Amino acid sequence: MPKYVSHQQVQNDLKAGKISCQELVEYYLSQIEATKELNAYVEIFAEEARQKAKALDQKLKEDPDSVGRLFGVVISIKDVLCYKGHKVTAASKILNGFESLFSATGIERLLREDVIIIGRVNCDEFAMGSTCENSVYGPTKNAADPSKVPGGSSGASAVAVQIDTCLVSLGTDTGGSVRQPAAFCGVIGFKPTYGRISRYGLLAYGSSFDQIGVLSNSVEDAALFLEIMAGSDEFDATVSTKPVPKYSESLTFDKKAKIAYFDTALNGEGIDEDIRKLSFGFIEDLKKEGHTVESVNFEYLDYIIPAYYVLTTAEASSNLSRYDGIRFGHRSSDAKNIDEVYKMSRTEGFGTEVKRRIMLGTFVLSAGYYDAYYSKAQKVRRLITDRTIEILGNYDFILMPTSPIPAWEIGKMIDDPVTMYLADIFTVQANMVGIPAISLPIGKHSNGMPVGIQLMANKFEEAKLLAFSNSIC
Ligand code: GLN
Repeated sequence: MPKYVSHQQVQNDLKAGKISCQELVEYYLSQIEATKELNAYVEIFAEEARQKAKALDQKLKEDPDSVGRLFGVVISIKDVLCYKGHKVTAASKILNGFESLFSATGIERLLREDVIIIGRVNCDEFAMGSTCENSVYGPTKNAADPSKVPGGSSGASAVAVQIDTCLVSLGTDTGGSVRQPAAFCGVIGFKPTYGRISRYGLLAYGSSFDQIGVLSNSVEDAALFLEIMAGSDEFDATVSTKPVPKYSESLTFDKKAKIAYFDTALNGEGIDEDIRKLSFGFIEDLKKEGHTVESVNFEYLDYIIPAYYVLTTAEASSNLSRYDGIRFGHRSSDAKNIDEVYKMSRTEGFGTEVKRRIMLGTFVLSAGYYDAYYSKAQKVRRLITDRTIEILGNYDFILMPTSPIPAWEIGKMIDDPVTMYLADIFTVQANMVGIPAISLPIGKHSNGMPVGIQLMANKFEEAKLLAFSNSIC
């Protein structure tokens, strides 16, 4: 079986009779089996995928024009996305045994286009983390070096694409969770504008930050998935009602782009030397192709991480209050009264990092500290947003490394959350501002690990961002 890197390739071969959906599914299932030790999948929908493949092969035979736009496209989904009749746990004990009563709007729209969902993949608990280690299922490993993390929180989505167990994987991105694992695993990770895709059926972490994103091997696939999932939805009042462009049909970029980068980011202290060199090499290549790349001043870089962690933990503490031992999943069997049901179920059900964030979020929202932390962080968010939008008024894109450091050893930062939080410095800005961003692979670190570069564009400029990305990778 060739390694397919786009839906176009798969569909050409299916339509030419070179392969069948059933063979494709068998191949991916064998890949999942062969790479089990990386711990990417928490559940495999083998029989269901086989049945669907069989039905699709039949559909193609009977009427080739009746097949959907994702015909033959096999995907995996992060364990925070609801898929009707299937378990969803956010990699947490607290949702043990919980089954989705409905599908996320994004998933529903993909299914209508004949996508095949092959399984549910691991992540950090409630999408909180940068390594895929904070999971009740244990850590997922990076296929480039299994002693290293794949990034997080959509780490297993990146691995699933990296090891060719599916064509595309759906992740979610609150502060970099699609882009950073994509960079760590050498695949493409794309996060749309906040509100471009409905959040209905996405288990909430930070509701003013969360967005579904796509991990793939080609920009083409990211564009088609966005086109299908985006757009208004009566179940999410925050989703944009703007018309959805045909992203997949406008992937050529024939102009010269004007790109900004922050000197404080690329020449800052915390950045790995190889990543710095690769990023500057990439900038040189862009200049050679006639694009303008200039350094601009961005004075708020140091404030991004503290503000992000105040705001997202505040939102998380509120969102996660619904897991009370009554309505969903785990209930403590030792509880003797209602107070104990709440306390013991939550104590037993949530992992360390989630508890840390619920406590931090409750603290920053408390009466005595609200003004000192929460409202101040909101003001910082406004400043960061205004300055970023101002820069994007003069430039097409902002360019940054996706991560200041390459994938690290499993276990290395688990007891040092602040250092781990700081590693999110380059990805969080796009979520603070709500703009689209993409991570593209640009080569390898001298230690052999993949490295990614990130491009951000103005709100709802996905078409431009995807077309440019397609032209340079
Ligand atoms: N690493 C970041 C965090 O832990 C981002 C997570 C995400 O985007 N879901 O919050």
